[in-house]
Amino acid sequence: MNKVVTRFAPSPTGFMHIGGVRTAIFAYLTARKYGGTFILRIEDTDKEREVEGSIEHIQKALRWLNLEWNYGPDKPGPFGSCIQSERLPTYKEFALKLIEKGLAYPDPYTAGQVETFRKKAEAEKRPFLYRDHRPKEFGVWDGTKPLRLKVPEVKRWHWKDAVRGDLEGGEEMLDDFVLIKSDGYPTYNFAHIIDDHLMGVTHILRADEFISSTPRFLSLYQALDIEPPVFATLPPILRDDRTKKLGKRDGAKDVMEYEREGYLSEAMLNYLTLLGWHPSDDREILSLDEILKEFSLERIQKAGAVFDEEKLKWFNRQYILRKSDEEFSERAQTFLPEWMSTKTTAFKRLLPVLKDKIQVFGEISGLFGEGGELHFIKALPDYTVELLLWKKNPDRAAALANLNECRDLLGKIRNEDFSAEAVKAAVWPYAEAKGRGEVLWPLRMALTGQDKSPDPFVCAAILGKDESLSRIDQAVKKCISEK
Ligand code: GLU
Repeated sequence: MNKVVTRFAPSPTGFMHIGGVRTAIFAYLTARKYGGTFILRIEDTDKEREVEGSIEHIQKALRWLNLEWNYGPDKPGPFGSCIQSERLPTYKEFALKLIEKGLAYPDPYTAGQVETFRKKAEAEKRPFLYRDHRPKEFGVWDGTKPLRLKVPEVKRWHWKDAVRGDLEGGEEMLDDFVLIKSDGYPTYNFAHIIDDHLMGVTHILRADEFISSTPRFLSLYQALDIEPPVFATLPPILRDDRTKKLGKRDGAKDVMEYEREGYLSEAMLNYLTLLGWHPSDDREILSLDEILKEFSLERIQKAGAVFDEEKLKWFNRQYILRKSDEEFSERAQTFLPEWMSTKTTAFKRLLPVLKDKIQVFGEISGLFGEGGELHFIKALPDYTVELLLWKKNPDRAAALANLNECRDLLGKIRNEDFSAEAVKAAVWPYAEAKGRGEVLWPLRMALTGQDKSPDPFVCAAILGKDESLSRIDQAVKKCISEK
């Protein structure tokens, strides 16, 4: 096989969503698998649709996922820039070649005239084809009029797709489409074929919306005398109810949104790779190296793949569980409130609980925020004495006795030994003897003042000895004095 070259060729028209990223991943994997080259090409020839900042955004998203490119907007190749708007002379050169061969001509009509042709076709209930109005003689192209391809041959095309197998498409798609617009920019149809050729692209991996245009592409390859590369059409990504393709309205959000929400890029990469591909066994958690070992175009499926955010969360959790305490703390840092730092003993004691609780790092903000399970660390909320009473025995005297006993037991632990394990060891035998709920409920409420929180041993350890005892004292006072 020739050296493999693939490209990801986004248009800078807004954010990168799941579908775009999945295409990038597959193109990247194909290049890496065969020791080839991966190009990031910016297709910015539709200036009206361009959204400022998109080029930076695309690069940021790919970098987040570690999809490093060999050539890109920041790294021109031997073929020049990877930004199409910087390659206009190249397209012009190819356009002139086609004109010379008699295979391209300037559109002689005004927009109004074309509209009349279209209406007439509509009235006669036949498809509007520009080639039916192709002028007998071609004028001279001065760049002010669109340049059109003279379709070299009107026929049915048959081609092979590395994923979909034998495909065909016919005459109805073949028309004298525009190569260069009157603003001087090439169309996607024209530019991508020239660039893929000059950049040595061997495999085009892209979404299925391009299948219907392939007969057009093939006639242009023919006109230009270019051997088409391998086409590999990726399966559509479906909404989780499988009824439709995932669209922006169904939550196909900006991939960097996931980064902000605290997803790990390894989890994202792993999950998206499985949207349309899977290894030969039933493994789901695969590192990039493991994926590369098994990756092949042959294993890409034809059928649509469902994007399920819950499943993505599950993947993220698996990767969180694999993180060392240091890595976990580092990532958690951004999501902590300003009153909590990863450097504190409290955080270190909390870490196993956090690791166990979250699927996505962003959930940390909620846990610490107002109404969150860990908000009690910041300050003891105002609560009524009723909260201290175990619901199966809402007796104030019992709560008071148990709180007093707990205070004594915790008081005996040395400050520096005040871990969740030590607190549990101190309180557990008493709780077993008295009834766990009886003892542990008032203790937990005294420490947190909120009915949702981790177990009382962890809560005490996080608060530390002094604060724990002070909170128990407050609860005792409440039991005695509150009406
Ligand atoms: N610029 C095209 C897009 O954004 C790329 C299609 C292709 O990969 O050829 O959809």
